[in-house]
Amino acid sequence: MKILFTGGAGYVGSACLRHAAKQGHEVLAYDNLVEGHPKAVASNPLVEGDIADTAKLTATLKDFGADAVMHFAAATNVGESVENPEYHYANNIGGSLSLLNAMRAAGVTRMLFSSTSSLYGAADKIPISEDSPPIPENPYARSKMAVEWMIQDFAHAYGLGYTLLRYFNACGADPSGEFGEHHDPETHIIPRILEVALGQRKTFAIFGTDYPTPDGTCLRDYVHIDDLASAHLLAIEATGPETRELYNIGTGTGQSVNEVIEACEAVVGQPIAKEYVARRPGDPPRLVSDPTKLQNGLGWSPRYTDIKEIIATAWEWHSKNPQGYTDA
Ligand code: UDP
Repeated sequence: MKILFTGGAGYVGSACLRHAAKQGHEVLAYDNLVEGHPKAVASNPLVEGDIADTAKLTATLKDFGADAVMHFAAATNVGESVENPEYHYANNIGGSLSLLNAMRAAGVTRMLFSSTSSLYGAADKIPISEDSPPIPENPYARSKMAVEWMIQDFAHAYGLGYTLLRYFNACGADPSGEFGEHHDPETHIIPRILEVALGQRKTFAIFGTDYPTPDGTCLRDYVHIDDLASAHLLAIEATGPETRELYNIGTGTGQSVNEVIEACEAVVGQPIAKEYVARRPGDPPRLVSDPTKLQNGLGWSPRYTDIKEIIATAWEWHSKNPQGYTDA
């Protein structure tokens, strides 16, 4: 299959692209390189372009002869979305509308959409299954929700096979230590803790200790990027022009912020200096997936079920590449 990856040079997009390439698919990254890194696509082809540039995207899809699109390109920082919603709505909703128009113009009728578990917000029932009602509580989650609706409406009106994938917390790195997470600024929990271990950050700030959870810190479901990538491949292979599908991608196990810190301490073999600060606006208390539908529907199961093993891959990457990718 010929698959175009928007945001294919980003953290999750590039992991999915490299995995699909290894499995014999023909891949092409399309990325504006604002947050992506050319080295993350390895030796696979990359077109530098913005998804908002409908003409360029249409031409790229046609020239490549794409059979399907995996759509990752987006602004993803929850805190920033609260500060600067315009950026998130323009990128995520405006950009996705441009992509859908380009796909129609190029006759591409299959897609995966990189959505988010954060649109479940403060869900009543944990673990969260796909029929849990969405309560998107921040502009990032609301922008992803709007794109899900847009894709469904385009599918209904113009014909489009799609699978929506609501990720829980993507983490970890390629076990080779060659590819991993590099955001600027870094906002995610595991890289930030490891920055303390590397002496790049003085203390790790725990955002809120008064959540309605067993130890008062937020619970999240941490899923390794290789497991995310294998779910994407299963999903795209199962997506035909008539498919209208939705899956959560998570392991089914929740870890608190304190537990993640302890696991990092065990992996790096040293204590992590920490401080307790106020809640971060927009953070839901508990996001843990019910992976039953994904397991039964696509036969997926995670290879990484121990948070320490996941962190060990991240540590391999961060300790070998303390400045991240050096090409951007
Ligand atoms: N977190 C934290 N301190 C940080 C970064 C994150 O306490 O410096 C917490 C955050 O409140 C959330 C969890 O770690 O409960 C995961 O946050 P991350 O930003 O990695 O992912 P998100 O869940 O926002 O997608």
